[in-house]
Amino acid sequence: MSGDVVDLAQARIDRSPHGSGPAMCLGCGHEWVAVVPIGVVGFACPACHLDKGVMKGLYSSDRYDWTCACGNILYRISEKRLYCILCGKEPDLS
Ligand SMILES: [Zn+2]
Ligand SMILES: [Zn+2]
Repeated sequence: MSGDVVDLAQARIDRSPHGSGPAMCLGCGHEWVAVVPIGVVGFACPACHLDKGVMKGLYSSDRYDWTCACGNILYRISEKRLYCILCGKEPDLS
């Protein structure tokens, strides 16, 4: 029974239209474990009730995901550039 924890968790996520994981609010900084439909990127914060909740790790696929110097892993991509949604810094991927 050892060594199957990650595989079982992944199988459960694949079957479900929902995912759960650590979330945080970009408004008030509250952190909690959220359960949201896959693909939803903004949802209500239970502390301040604004739709500023985002997943901290649900969609990060592996250890190669980029993390901003401010600690954020969530980026926006525009026509011109890619930037951290918390501090605005562009990642140095070179
Ligand atoms: Zn909040
Ligand atoms: Zn940042």
